Amino acid sequence: MRLGPWANAVLERLGDAELPVEGLEVVEGRAVGRVDGCEASFEVELVPQRVWAAMWRFTRGNGPLELAAEGREQSEHLDLLLREDWDAPLLPPDVRPRCSCDGAGRCVHTRALGRAFALEVEQHPAALLRWRGCTPERARVVHEDEPDDAATLPEEAWQAGELPPPLPPRPLPPGAVLKRLGASGIRVAGADLADLLQPAYEAFARTAIPKEAENVSPGASVSSPSPD
Ligand SMILES: [Zn+2]
Repeated sequence: MRLGPWANAVLERLGDAELPVEGLEVVEGRAVGRVDGCEASFEVELVPQRVWAAMWRFTRGNGPLELAAEGREQSEHLDLLLREDWDAPLLPPDVRPRCSCDGAGRCVHTRALGRAFALEVEQHPAALLRWRGCTPERARVVHEDEPDDAATLPEEAWQAGELPPPLPPRPLPPGAVLKRLGASGIRVAGADLADLLQPAYEAFARTAIPKEAENVSPGASVSSPSPD
């Protein structure tokens, strides 16, 4: 039997026992069928969505690769690109065979399922792509609920660190606010109120308790150094 490269790879990797397989079904992440009263399956991780989306974009307009990405041809080239560039071969090393006979997975039932799967891929190469999640629909998804790098960061990564010490207060001359606001327009005893208040601000500055000398313990009643 002469098979295309994808079907041949499936046959060689997943077995070739010749038993009839009923109800073969290939969905994303799973190929399943009934063999001699057992339910046998091959489970596999999906190619990460962003990988397949990038691959899909790359194949657009590239004749043979485009046909392969659409599952209309078995292409060693597409498999090579996925393997070499993305470490995501169509037939990865960690396929999980299962069977209801004893769960060991390498029974005649899974090997028969492997053969049926290979023949299905020969007829419909898209079946192998679908099994790995390499579908046109998934290529066009903008965001998929997959764990990304941010989601795998440890919890501590999101805890705030120590705040830097506050910058020293801006050294302002006494009565700076008076200078900034300018003349008040209020005349008192022949002078503008702002000019009259300037000596008062200077007096406050001389008697104000320096910040570092306050040493107020939490909960203590805070007496403001500002005069009133
Ligand atoms: Zn079995």
